Amino acid sequence: MSEQADRPRRMPKPTPETQHFWDGTRASELRLQRCDACANTYFPPRPFCPACASRDVQVVAASGRATLHAYVINQRPGPGFDAPHSIAVVELEEGPRMMTNIVECDQTPEALTIDMPVEVVYEAIDDEITLPLFRPAAGGAS
Ligand SMILES: [Zn+2]
Repeated sequence: MSEQADRPRRMPKPTPETQHFWDGTRASELRLQRCDACANTYFPPRPFCPACASRDVQVVAASGRATLHAYVINQRPGPGFDAPHSIAVVELEEGPRMMTNIVECDQTPEALTIDMPVEVVYEAIDDEITLPLFRPAAGGAS
């Protein structure tokens, strides 16, 4: 490993709307919300359904399985990162897309292929924030 970037990664700040999500990642659970009115599953957290505006929504645990939807490889060090690192959008099995990083693999176009299966891993940053990151799924394509 090369030395850690000395600046802290820019951290998300839990809000009342997102607290359930951060409580979830801390417990190694990826939490989405599902609308009881129209069965839409969505992310990021909000107190009403983005599809039908119903407030009849509940928190559900995601499987943690996803596919790589899009990414860019950032060649320069960023806060909390050694270069290069991927900034990716993954599509969760449940439907919503999430901005994340792909870890535990080479940060190259050869290693990162669109639609590859990935799975969530959790990286505790501090007592409050555990980030959901994704790595290539064990066993490759299902
Ligand atoms: Zn709805």
